[in-house]
Amino acid sequence: MYAFNYHKPKTLAEAQALIGKLPEGKLLAGGHTLIPTLKQRLAQPSDLIDIGGIAELKGLTVTASAVTIGAGTRHDEVARSAEVKKAIPALALLASGIGDRQVRARGTIGGSLANSDPAADYPGAVLGLGATVHTTKRTIKADDFFKGMFETALDEGEIITKVEFPVPKRAGYMKFANPASRYVMVGSFVAETAGGIRVAINGAGPCAFRWAEAEKALAAKFAAASVEGLKHKADGLNSDIHASAEYRAHLITVMTKRAVAQAGG
Ligand SMILES: Cc1cc2nc3c(=O)[nH]c(=O)nc-3n(C[C@H](O)[C@H](O)[C@H](O)COP(=O)(O)OP(=O)(O)OC[C@H]3O[C@@H](n4cnc5c(N)ncnc54)[C@H](O)[C@@H]3O)c2cc1C
Repeated sequence: MYAFNYHKPKTLAEAQALIGKLPEGKLLAGGHTLIPTLKQRLAQPSDLIDIGGIAELKGLTVTASAVTIGAGTRHDEVARSAEVKKAIPALALLASGIGDRQVRARGTIGGSLANSDPAADYPGAVLGLGATVHTTKRTIKADDFFKGMFETALDEGEIITKVEFPVPKRAGYMKFANPASRYVMVGSFVAETAGGIRVAINGAGPCAFRWAEAEKALAAKFAAASVEGLKHKADGLNSDIHASAEYRAHLITVMTKRAVAQAGG
């Protein structure tokens, strides 16, 4: 690890001011992505701005129409919330399947989304439910948020403050997890929302993306059988030591069928 200066702001305004004047600085939330990166000397920030103690970024609220989660909320809190389990069971299920207990006890939704790891879980729910990401500057629709591998619409120094998930009529999430890390090899988040059917695929490509063909088939009939004959192209999908692009393409159909069945279709 290279040397860095450490800051622990108490308010969001303080954190925003610090990151604004430290161009080589980095925000630190749960540290479950950033700390391993620093330990491997893959990044050399001048300063770490630890936002882990900022109360404004923590907690969740649930209404009849939306689940809103503060960016600094740990995965475990979402997984255990009785209110989230009731409003959007698939979201609580997703959070409960992230990594292991230690990861869920430290990792935050804001850190996960800002990182846009292709193998992360939350991007599936954000895109599948058509959530809105709130930042210190603006609101960003899910469809505009994920730009590529480890790339999002966030500007330098822009801080995610909360994520607002509209409550769907029904939703399901299934992932084929890497047996060692529990990271996503391929996941599918399927939701029947007020705006129609949404199918988001994570783990398979450079970042989460929607599968239009499946959305069309499920809009005609919301049943696992509607996805049966569909096959996503392998072109452009990730291929690595864990799985080939062809295998990931196969898993897209399988995980989507299971997600639809979980949602009751
Ligand atoms: C062993 C292991 C297994 C894991 N398995 C899974 C898994 O199965 N599924 C999964 O989804 N994830 C998994 N993770 C990742 C985990 O969920 C991380 O916690 C998450 O990716 C990053 O969140 P964090 O709060 O730790 O962010 P940090 O590591 O603190 O930060 C990550 C990045 O986000 C930026 N950032 C943090 N907060 C904000 C914010 N509010 N606004 C803007 N930028 C911000 C930081 O500057 C940094 O660049 C795993 C991690 C480990 C170590």
